[in-house]
Amino acid sequence: MSETKHALVTGGAGFVGSHLVRALLADGWRVTAMDNLLTGDTGNLDGLDGNPAFDFVKHDVTEPYEGPWTLIANLACPASPPRYQADPIHTWETSVLGARNAALAAEKNGAMLFHTSTSEVYGDPDVHPQPESYWGHVNCNGVRSCYDEGKRAAETLLADFRRCRGLDVRMVRFFNTYGPAMDPEDGRVVTNMVLAALRGKDIPIYGDGSQTRSFQYVSDAIEAVMRFIRKPRAEVDAFFAAKKMSVPVLNIGNPGEFTISELAEIVLEYIPGTGSRTAHFPLPGDDPKRRRPDIGLAGELLGWKPEVPLREGLKKTIAYFAGKCGK
Ligand code: NAD
Ligand code: UDP
Repeated sequence: MSETKHALVTGGAGFVGSHLVRALLADGWRVTAMDNLLTGDTGNLDGLDGNPAFDFVKHDVTEPYEGPWTLIANLACPASPPRYQADPIHTWETSVLGARNAALAAEKNGAMLFHTSTSEVYGDPDVHPQPESYWGHVNCNGVRSCYDEGKRAAETLLADFRRCRGLDVRMVRFFNTYGPAMDPEDGRVVTNMVLAALRGKDIPIYGDGSQTRSFQYVSDAIEAVMRFIRKPRAEVDAFFAAKKMSVPVLNIGNPGEFTISELAEIVLEYIPGTGSRTAHFPLPGDDPKRRRPDIGLAGELLGWKPEVPLREGLKKTIAYFAGKCGK
């Protein structure tokens, strides 16, 4: 690996990717953001244009690429259910071919490959909370499968690149992550509810609202990623070998678990007086009933735990959306 710290962030114009770009720059990295702008927005990278340590490349990761990077952080993939279901074939290709192209580019340059997987690899879990060792309960041909199975196949491929070809692969499974830089129209629950409340519209609850999610504020996710990336390979390898895990993968999320109805109540409490009320809509297909990360491994390896509770993170996110929507 060359001495210059030069990172490629695929999906760098997206929600989490743009935060990672800024965190890497602040940490002294040169950074290239690569994105096809499917769900991302170069507005998320505002202010970086004149930075000599930063550049942006428009490219679709389903097509091969290469470059001088010492770290490839592979985040490219739509993450919102309506967005990833809009073109499921391209979503699967992004996940799987994107992982393959990232692995080949990393291998060529002896780079570390950091990859963002997801709690969706657990599907509709029958183990609760979910540890990394849980194999999941996943439909292979439902409406969410392009994403869930795409992410599982990407993990498989990258685990084999590590086992068979020695690539320095590190993966995280993010649980629902939210915060500034989310696209106000992305259709995820936090954005939908906050935007509806700000606009005085009905707050959509899909199903009876008893399903749960564990919401992580983006700064906590980024802190975990930066700690993981900074770890020497020998320490990472020794840690996972001692756990009898053949690949470095960590759950990264906030174990605070809320029903979707509770989330709606908090949003209404923080955005009062706009006339919004909750309204129920049909539950989408294969919607997981509950989700909460076991973050024991990440705590042990990284000395990390999430610092931002849902209420605090929501206040910041509401302020961001209010600014975006001129409220
Ligand atoms: P996002 O949709 O905001 O960002 C994804 C970015 O990838 C966008 O900028 C999009 O334009 C880009 N992209 C999509 N397909 C591409 C392609 N084929 N080529 C190049 N660029 C492409 O989503 P996000 O929430 O920032 O998610 C980032 C990563 O984290 C994704 O891999 C996602 O699966 C993972 N993740 C996110 C969450 C979450 O709750 N936010 C949870 C689990 C996993
Ligand atoms: N949801 C909801 N209202 C919305 C959007 C989503 O009730 O406007 C529900 C959705 O059915 C799911 C949960 O909120 O149970 C989280 O949905 P999201 O799309 O944010 O992500 P998921 O965790 O399902 O991938």
